[in-house]
Amino acid sequence: MLSATIPRMQSIHTSSIEQLIEQFQTLPGVGKRSAERFAYHILKTPTNDAMNMARAIRDVKQNIRNCNCCFNITEDDLCTICNSSKRNQRQLCVVEFPKDLFSIEKSGLYNGVYHVLLGKLSPLDHIGPERLKIAELFQRLKQNEFDEIILATNPTVEGDATSLYIIKKIKELNISTHISRLARGIPAGAEIEFASKAMLSDALSKRQGIN
Ligand SMILES: [Zn+2]
Repeated sequence: MLSATIPRMQSIHTSSIEQLIEQFQTLPGVGKRSAERFAYHILKTPTNDAMNMARAIRDVKQNIRNCNCCFNITEDDLCTICNSSKRNQRQLCVVEFPKDLFSIEKSGLYNGVYHVLLGKLSPLDHIGPERLKIAELFQRLKQNEFDEIILATNPTVEGDATSLYIIKKIKELNISTHISRLARGIPAGAEIEFASKAMLSDALSKRQGIN
């Protein structure tokens, strides 16, 4: 009767390692195996290097906040983009999250300023306009003149709903600024065969003339 003598399954890690593994597992895309690898890597990392990493995580949480104007992340009252005299302050790009802003910045193709909503409308998750920085957006639109507002929310149901809500409000407030949205359709390098119905529908409806 082997089962009577088998001890209860215990963790093979110490409780500190177990905690570190659990923390790593909260990172996006990190499963149990990777979390264990990271934890044992930290274990053999020189103490100073590991402490530097811990400090960097603490500093990010302590020092980073949202820009008073656009809600991008910053360590000062205003972010570097809002503070820059080289940016076109009359062109405003509205994005959902700071990570979207970084992606656009990395492209080097945009020189205007931003407004970060810090989310998207999602009735199923009880996220209405009051949970986003939409009131602050309209405050900016009333106080400043913009030549163009680019709505760069994600091409998802929630992203589209967020953009449509903002467009409706802009019209209600009689703000006459030119509004545009990011082009969409089949991404460069993709094949029509693998495009979703939504992508094809966008690509067909936004097709461009060539002569
Ligand atoms: Zn800013």
